Amino acid sequence: MTRRGVCLVLSAPSGTGKSSVGRALLAREPELSLSVSATTRAPRPGEVEGVHYYFRSLPEFAALAAAGAMLEHAEVFGRHYGTPRAPVEAALAAGRDVLFDIDWQGHQQLRLALPQDVVGVFLLPPSLTELRRRLETRAQDGPAEIERRMASAHDEIAHWAEFDHLLLNDSFEATVEAVRCVLHAARSARHRQPGLAAHAAAMLQREY
Ligand code: GDP
Ligand code: ADP
Ligand code: 5GP
Repeated sequence: MTRRGVCLVLSAPSGTGKSSVGRALLAREPELSLSVSATTRAPRPGEVEGVHYYFRSLPEFAALAAAGAMLEHAEVFGRHYGTPRAPVEAALAAGRDVLFDIDWQGHQQLRLALPQDVVGVFLLPPSLTELRRRLETRAQDGPAEIERRMASAHDEIAHWAEFDHLLLNDSFEATVEAVRCVLHAARSARHRQPGLAAHAAAMLQREY
């Protein structure tokens, strides 16, 4: 009676907090695992191959995409990012939920690839000033990269209406708990519960 897993997509302008929220969620949800993306960007200090990303050269990335090994891929901030297909398909079939930290293009494509499975959550920062402050305090990107990410925030936010859920990432704890509630509600959606649907039907066959 395995239920089908949920594809939980977290998107937000860079710096809003989606990676931090995702990390906290993964620590609290044993049935949830992260989809590790492939990217052509260079590793940041502390980023580990296969944990944060699969770091690939552009020709390697192009070969994976051409072979159909990616569920979706997109260019973000001038670099390529994509979702490896096999781990996602295996997890969903085994009834495990998968978390995606991908941009709006990835969310659009994933919905087309897996129309029954995707639940999209869009996080909003309290303000653009606060977004800049978070990018600066994260201290992972140089000034030019921060400007590039601030300039892209507008394009990212323009896609808010494509998502199932909108959350303001003001209080971190409240955001993590709200995303958790979305995941729990999605798990019990009727179409993910064929076992329980069969159980209901069987009870209706009995005469008391
Ligand atoms: P972050 O904004 O600090 O999370 O920066 P990252 O460098 O981790 O991500 C850069 C951009 O690429 C973000 O907009 C992500 O949502 C997007 N991204 C990450 N992984 C994927 C993916 O697998 N597919 C697609 N299409 N976009 C991704
Ligand atoms: P993203 O993955 O969306 O680019 P991060 O998770 O890297 O964002 O968060 C960017 C910065 O903002 C980090 O330094 C993080 O600690 C901080 N941050 C995340 N959520 C909040 C919040 N609710 N309030 C204040 N700071 C936050
Ligand atoms: P960063 O370079 O800061 O790690 O990621 C930048 C952006 O790329 C983030 O907004 C992140 O969500 C997005 N991103 C990361 N991996 C993927 C992916 O596999 N597909 C898509 N579409 N976007 C991704």
